[in-house]
Amino acid sequence: MKASMVVFAVKGSKMVEKVLKGGLRVGRVEYDVEKFVAAGLNSFCGVCSRCGHDDAKCVSLMMPVCMLCARKHLTKDHKCNMVGCKGHTGQNCVHTVNRCVNCNGEHIAKANCCVKM
Ligand SMILES: [Zn+2]
Ligand SMILES: [Zn+2]
Ligand SMILES: [Zn+2]
Ligand SMILES: [Zn+2]
Repeated sequence: MKASMVVFAVKGSKMVEKVLKGGLRVGRVEYDVEKFVAAGLNSFCGVCSRCGHDDAKCVSLMMPVCMLCARKHLTKDHKCNMVGCKGHTGQNCVHTVNRCVNCNGEHIAKANCCVKM
């Protein structure tokens, strides 16, 4: 069997529902949409903070990216250097400038946060 990479953009939950119920046919191949949606849209990697795969499939194990600040450390190792900060290691605090590694926006990276994947 020839492996092929197919990426669908499913917009809106209604469309997702429809596709989940009816299945999705492209040519003569029927894709397991439920599996795709689970793996493609909702999964979030705890290592590199990117959407579209989970920790087990991460290819960036040696280059973790923080979910909070997009710097090069695991989210659980995130810490604030501000003296007197009450934030705990691995948690967001008021001093952290949130940065999303997926879209470079000023919010924490999380599943479904961005359109760009
Ligand atoms: Zn990853
Ligand atoms: Zn961080
Ligand atoms: Zn702080
Ligand atoms: Zn984002």
